[in-house]
Amino acid sequence: SIRRITRALISVSDKSGLVPFAEALAAAGVEIVSTGGTAAALAAAGLPVRDVAELTGFPEMMDGRVKTLHPAVHGGLLAIRDSAEHQNSAKQHGIEPIDLLVVSLYPFEATIASGADFDTSIENIDIGGPAMIRAAAKNFDGVAVVVDPDDYERVLAEMRANASGTTIQLRRRLAAKAYARTAAYDAAISRWFAEVVKEDVPTWRSFGGRLAQPLRYGENPHQTAAFYHMAPSRAGVATAHQHQGKELSYNNLNDTDAAFELVAEFDPSKTAAVAIIKHANPCGVATGATLKDAYEKALRCDPVSAFGGIIALNREIDAEAAEAMTQIFTEVVIAPGASDAAREIFAAKKNLRLLTTNMLPDPRAPGLLVRSLAGGLLVQSRDDAVVEDFDLKVVTKRQPTEAEFADMRFAFKVAKHVKSNAIVYARQGATVGIGAGQMSRVDSTRIAAWKAGEAAKTAEIAEPLTRGSVVASDAFFPFADGLIAAADAGATAVIQPGGSMRDEEVIAAADARNLAMVFTGIRHFRH
Ligand code: 5GP
Repeated sequence: SIRRITRALISVSDKSGLVPFAEALAAAGVEIVSTGGTAAALAAAGLPVRDVAELTGFPEMMDGRVKTLHPAVHGGLLAIRDSAEHQNSAKQHGIEPIDLLVVSLYPFEATIASGADFDTSIENIDIGGPAMIRAAAKNFDGVAVVVDPDDYERVLAEMRANASGTTIQLRRRLAAKAYARTAAYDAAISRWFAEVVKEDVPTWRSFGGRLAQPLRYGENPHQTAAFYHMAPSRAGVATAHQHQGKELSYNNLNDTDAAFELVAEFDPSKTAAVAIIKHANPCGVATGATLKDAYEKALRCDPVSAFGGIIALNREIDAEAAEAMTQIFTEVVIAPGASDAAREIFAAKKNLRLLTTNMLPDPRAPGLLVRSLAGGLLVQSRDDAVVEDFDLKVVTKRQPTEAEFADMRFAFKVAKHVKSNAIVYARQGATVGIGAGQMSRVDSTRIAAWKAGEAAKTAEIAEPLTRGSVVASDAFFPFADGLIAAADAGATAVIQPGGSMRDEEVIAAADARNLAMVFTGIRHFRH
């Protein structure tokens, strides 16, 4: 609904854009109430302004530590507009409604960045500002809250369009931004304080997560680490329960997550699927009629690397699969459940860590990925693209067969979870050669084929399984050489994003070898 603005409380440290904004408010008939410095700036510009001390009946005191912390302010912000009871209380105590709150906080971040001393930094922690922002944001149904001068024009535009009112949509957006501001503000304070008292753990806490598990060390023994659960989200949170084995390490957790998110790409109601992971890259992935079948196919891809690996399964583990998996040394097994019989088989392997989870993560779910770099954080949305949702475009003379299509989709799903440059050969729902993390795509293509050759020697089969396979590439082939190497290894069909300057050349090379090729239009870089 639209709420008309009749009274605004403005209390800003950053006074940029203040006067023109307040002028426009005053012109719209809005009464302006302000704190000391803001009121002085407005009065100097010739604008009518009421001092907040008049509203509260208290002067600003204690060096400005107490200015607006008063029921006359907080009642005016928090009273529910449509509640007769709230409105009665307001009337009884002479509390006037505040429909617009404009605050920019004491510049704590800029103060510490300027190298200010401890006492100055402490004095720049705003108390009343965040309290008002949080109150107004909670009552977004009746109050618009602005924490950033960049939003002044947005509010004015709505007021012009709605007879001095704002829409509920804008007020909700402003409220979300307001809480983001107070969260970031408190995060900055907590991080600074943690540094002052030389404690790491509060720094991590300020990410908004909850400490799930302190870890012995990080990726290497000289690094400290901990595992945090994110603040709960609306989509629900996947949680795992560890049944046995030693404590999980940082690397175990990282690799286990890679395995689990990969296997979750395969709908358990359609197929059993197993992924074996080493150092966050898959060394074998397969679908199958049963988990045992899928496991054995996955293991065949690269049995040497699978030793000491991490296995994820997309269905509850049965005894047969547990039996198969305990034949070689495995660090971690994770699945959405395990039967009692399977649990008993694992129990005999004291070092194996068994984890069961409450759900499979949804590959299409939104989410954020965070990584740190010198002096900052990189944040991106999660790669939620799923090949079944793509429009696959055949670009060669030969159409892929149905079997090739199925394997191409499978291979492209796996490629999404392989570090770039990623090349995945697949046949009959199983990977048969994986090239990961190389600096050139043609090297990945050759390494994957070479590994398939080694696997064939181990299995004592005459031909590498790449003969008659399909190949997926996580990004386009920049030259024809990678595709030619794949064809030489025996691939008959190719799935790749396309979009290279030399697509024509690559397509011509595929046609010359009677390969079928599809373009996805979407790539899966993973660095
Ligand atoms: P002014 O320049 O108007 O005197 O002060 C504006 C600043 O005071 C704003 O940054 C606002 O967040 C902050 N402020 C408003 N009320 C209070 C309060 O009760 N305590 C403290 N510490 N800061 C307040």
